[in-house]
Amino acid sequence: NEKVYSNFIQDIIDEDNRTNRYGGRVHTRFPPEPNGYLHIGHAKSICLNFGIAEQNGGLCNLRFDDTNPSKEDTEYVESIKADVKWLGFDWEDRLYYASDYFDKMFEYAVKLIKMGKAYVCDLSADEIREYRGTLTEPGKESPYRNRSVEENLDLFMRMKNGEFEEGSRVLRAKIDMASPNLNMRDPVIYRIIKASHHRSGDKWCIYPMYDFAHPISDSLEGITHSICTLEFEDHRPLYNWVLETLDMECKTRQIEFARLNLTYTVMSKRKLLRLVQEGHVRGWDDPRMPTISGLRRRGYTPSAIRNFCARIGVAKSNSTVDISLLEHCIREELNQKAQRVMAVLRPLKLVIDNYPEGMVEEFEVENNPEDPNAGTRKVPFSKVLYIEKDDFCENPPKKYFRLAPGQEVRLKGAYIVKCVDVVKDDKTGEITEVHCTYDPQSRGGNASDGRKVKGTIHWVSAAHAIDAEVRLYDHLFSVPNPGADENVDFIEQLNPNSLEVLKSCKLEPSLAGAKPGDAFQFLRLGYFCVDLVDSKEGSLVFNRTVTLKDTWAK
Ligand code: ATP
Ligand code: MG
Ligand code: MG
Repeated sequence: NEKVYSNFIQDIIDEDNRTNRYGGRVHTRFPPEPNGYLHIGHAKSICLNFGIAEQNGGLCNLRFDDTNPSKEDTEYVESIKADVKWLGFDWEDRLYYASDYFDKMFEYAVKLIKMGKAYVCDLSADEIREYRGTLTEPGKESPYRNRSVEENLDLFMRMKNGEFEEGSRVLRAKIDMASPNLNMRDPVIYRIIKASHHRSGDKWCIYPMYDFAHPISDSLEGITHSICTLEFEDHRPLYNWVLETLDMECKTRQIEFARLNLTYTVMSKRKLLRLVQEGHVRGWDDPRMPTISGLRRRGYTPSAIRNFCARIGVAKSNSTVDISLLEHCIREELNQKAQRVMAVLRPLKLVIDNYPEGMVEEFEVENNPEDPNAGTRKVPFSKVLYIEKDDFCENPPKKYFRLAPGQEVRLKGAYIVKCVDVVKDDKTGEITEVHCTYDPQSRGGNASDGRKVKGTIHWVSAAHAIDAEVRLYDHLFSVPNPGADENVDFIEQLNPNSLEVLKSCKLEPSLAGAKPGDAFQFLRLGYFCVDLVDSKEGSLVFNRTVTLKDTWAK
């Protein structure tokens, strides 16, 4: 009975099964608010909720927690559905919206009023905060706390009917202004918002607060275990109060776990939205974003993300995961799966003086040394090639094993060449061509006399190469914990060099048919994928998914 997720949450479920608390049922939900795109932190919650359900023979709902019309939109609803599916999870026919329960929630609020457990309060938001008190001081009762049931019912109806201004009145639960838990000091459960809702339109101008809407939604759907992040731990007594006071049939258990934080990025939708709105990135799906859509465009696979979520595990205390672990997960997978190809990102012309003009040879090379079934392909070779600019050095330091005047290097899978001359631009002095001779006896890359040539560089045939744009990405932020210092705006911590665009890259011709999303290892350079948005047939755009070098300390 091996569980993929063996953790404290599974322990609680095992205990609930032993005591038959839910008749052996396990039913979870993933409850995103459609006010932004999903990010890798949400992926952790998705994997956990769907994973826990699956390993217990249970069910998991997808529920949009859409109770705040001012920030929500159907664009977000659609992107969230697409991302959950892409990650490999299926809610089947269990797609719900908290907004579907607005009528019921309103009835429950009326029920609380009739029980004398809720009242309409005319204090302003600032006053409510002030009256609430602090951890060391008890709260002060609102002067509206003891309104009669009749007056409260009348005012609440009039709130609903749009008679009052936004912010002028709220409905509060009447609990305990002296509670040591601030959330229990008469929390607001309904407020006036005069905005159109993406589903219910203008039917409502009062909307339930999370702390009221969430337990009701969970219970109505028969959710057994409501898994949420740690900041809701202090809200649990209120969650239970709502279920008990309303005598809800399903007494859902709330369980809190630590949210995922990653180095060199931010993970709050508010901050991600700012990056998009202020144009610091090209959109929610910018490959530098920690969003699911950004990671997808960057070349991450669902399995690499799921694997990452399984590895980080689930804990009860907050911590920050090193982003190099995420990179390690995709690198490991692509190392197994990605076809190897040759691509020159910063081309320098190499002319082989003693190679016959017009001759073309084909070299058969391995597609993937990690995969014996990957086969081979043919790469054309001719007199004029491109190599990487930084694979040539006019005045090389000691132990420079790439190409240099008078020095030999191996062209991967082809011949050994020796540099005999360089051509420079008259004005700038920049090297524009490297001239070599080749050793015809070294076909395949080894010298017939057994002499050692240490360096091997990649190349493409100039006449056969195809052009492409390649986008190199680095961390979005230049500090490990952007936004950690409250006195510094996280925007100032953006990495100015997070994107480098190379427009005249030269690729081996086999890449001409590459399709959006296809992944490759560019030999010696890293893993790259065809961009899902900007790449077109005939004008390919590649994204660097991850470099070859692994910085994850195992
Ligand atoms: P944000 O602060 O980014 O707006 P949120 O919690 O308000 O996040 P929701 O759409 O409400 O975003 O989140 C849906 C679910 O995903 C919730 O159950 C929430 O706890 C979980 N979740 C959100 N962020 C993370 C994270 N960084 N790590 C783990 N789970 C997360
Ligand atoms: Mg939320
Ligand atoms: Mg939020």
